Amino acid sequence: MMKVEQKLFENRYRIDEGHGHVAIREPEICRERCTTRSCTWCCPAGCYGTDEDGGVVLSNDGCLECGTCRLLCDEFDNIDWSYPRGGYGVLYKFG
Ligand code: SF4
Ligand code: SF4
Repeated sequence: MMKVEQKLFENRYRIDEGHGHVAIREPEICRERCTTRSCTWCCPAGCYGTDEDGGVVLSNDGCLECGTCRLLCDEFDNIDWSYPRGGYGVLYKFG
């Protein structure tokens, strides 16, 4: 059976440089107040990570537009989320 990582590789993604559709509103909240850091473990595309200073970093590349990160950041509502502009973002390959 095909692994999730292999399936993700089947998707195509068109990056909209300079127009990230997901953004962290207040990085200081991530660094200093958030204890769950759910975005760093819930994202199926691994878009969130931590830096050496203890902050949370986000890359829009490969985002599957699932919305999970925004839902799980419910304590601080610290994720600004919208769909990518037309023609950009993930292109799912079915079958
Ligand atoms: S879950 Fe929200 S507040 Fe917590 S680290 Fe992620 S973006 Fe920041
Ligand atoms: S919308 Fe889904 S894939 Fe995109 S950054 Fe959030 S959790 Fe990751």
